Amino acid sequence: MTTSTIHDVIVVGGGNAGFAAAHAAAERGRSVVLLERGRQDMAGGNSFYTAGATRMNHAGLDDLRDIVEPDERHPVTEVPPYSSAEYLADLIKVTDGKTDRDMAEVLVTETADAVRWLHGLGLKYRLMYERQAYDRADGSYLFWGGLHVGNVGGGEGLIADHTAVAERMGTEVRYGIRARSLIVEDRRVVGVRATDDDGAELELRAESVILAAGGFESSPEWREQHLGQGWANAKVRGTPYNVGDMLAAALEVGAAKGGDWSTCHSVQWDAGAEHNESNRELTNRLTRQSYPLGIIVNRDGQRFLDEGADFRNYTYAKYGREILKQPGSIAWQLFDATLRPMLRTEEYDMPGIGVHEADSIEALAEAMGVDPAALASTVDAFNASIDRDVPFDPTVKDGRAAQVEPPKSNWASPIETGPFYAYPVTCGITFTFGGVKGDLEGRVLREDGTAIEGLYACGEMLGGLFSGNYPGGSGLAAGMVFGRRAGAAAATAGAR
Ligand SMILES: Cc1cc2nc3c(=O)[nH]c(=O)nc-3n(C[C@H](O)[C@H](O)[C@H](O)COP(=O)(O)OP(=O)(O)OC[C@H]3O[C@@H](n4cnc5c(N)ncnc54)[C@H](O)[C@@H]3O)c2cc1C
Repeated sequence: MTTSTIHDVIVVGGGNAGFAAAHAAAERGRSVVLLERGRQDMAGGNSFYTAGATRMNHAGLDDLRDIVEPDERHPVTEVPPYSSAEYLADLIKVTDGKTDRDMAEVLVTETADAVRWLHGLGLKYRLMYERQAYDRADGSYLFWGGLHVGNVGGGEGLIADHTAVAERMGTEVRYGIRARSLIVEDRRVVGVRATDDDGAELELRAESVILAAGGFESSPEWREQHLGQGWANAKVRGTPYNVGDMLAAALEVGAAKGGDWSTCHSVQWDAGAEHNESNRELTNRLTRQSYPLGIIVNRDGQRFLDEGADFRNYTYAKYGREILKQPGSIAWQLFDATLRPMLRTEEYDMPGIGVHEADSIEALAEAMGVDPAALASTVDAFNASIDRDVPFDPTVKDGRAAQVEPPKSNWASPIETGPFYAYPVTCGITFTFGGVKGDLEGRVLREDGTAIEGLYACGEMLGGLFSGNYPGGSGLAAGMVFGRRAGAAAATAGAR
């Protein structure tokens, strides 16, 4: 049976971008319904799985005090300012200049304001000491990498806060509803066809429809088709529901593709843990992000990338792809007893973590199933090539290099003090970079540049910002900035 309901604005997708869009429309007095495929215990999209890390422009700790929760460490904390110009330069650098310049300008200038807007509505933020700061010998803390602020309670806290705000603002959130297609009349999008958990068909109508239903990272078929051979084997880090439903629906009604459909965000991900896909208990803890301190080897015992090319925030999102390319799509991160205490606790002390530990490199290799002589030779060559006169300092790009092939440009520390540790990693896919083409208000565009009336997109669904790589923390930033814009535009466009 088909039930038809009428609202001002329909939002498809209950992640960070969808909620931001819903709040922006609701605060303009519009009636909003948000459709989320997941039941309540599976809702929140990729946003639920995040650490909540949010890359924002700011002028240092004093500038952040109005939005971050108080912390007794603040008086001994240094948070280097992060300007819009640096943010833009980072986006251009990591995407090799492929970021859409107009979208990027909006992102880097509006994120701080968007965070303040959400904070004003009820979202809570904090400084991310455990992920983005190193404690110095004098007991002080130095933040690094342009990424300093995160949600209280990580992604779970983010979604809980968003849900509470939506409820307060009168947005109707409907769980277990899978949008299937768009209703078009007179070349204008006027609603959505969907099915509920029992398979019943629904029809919902509205003045505007905002698509915030994520990318296609959870579909092995779409991955293989658009990202290339082998991508079906990647592990899905986040929601299983972002399978491209609404991308297909938008293309079907004439939307143009936007951004880079051939690349994605992917990281090093625990290859040994039992439940290493869409795990809502462990969420982001399955990632392995302290690799800049150690070395990474493949099944042949060989290194294959520069672990210290840059701060983790600027390399991590492209290194999953490098692991996928290795034999068996597997590699191991190696550390010694000196480095082990410096690894991120929430990740490397994860319950059920995949790890091998041994007192010699040869014994470690045996446990990994790698040729002991090959691994010992790699480690020896690495250790021997380190310029030990340069001081090791993980809070800056210290230039302490290992001159081997491939080189390690920073933070080269010998793997020489037992016990030794090897963490098996594979490729975990985070989200895809391709989406629909939109203008800066999120209006979905056709190939000829005209807008499809009544249709908006935001978040992962709006292509253009990222290609090949990504600066950590900008996915949530993009969702809030462009979600807010799409919500405002949809609300005003439809207002009578
Ligand atoms: C493990 C992990 C950690 C991450 N950490 C960070 C981080 O710390 N900082 C950061 O900036 N980014 C991070 N990211 C990236 C970030 O999650 C995304 O960039 C961002 O959350 C995208 O928001 P979104 O609202 O566009 O998509 P999502 O949050 O994925 O929301 C899309 C929603 O659409 C729903 N949906 C899909 N299809 C349909 C349909 N047909 N009908 C109805 N609903 C549908 C889904 O169920 C989902 O709830 C991380 C991602 C993962 C997976």
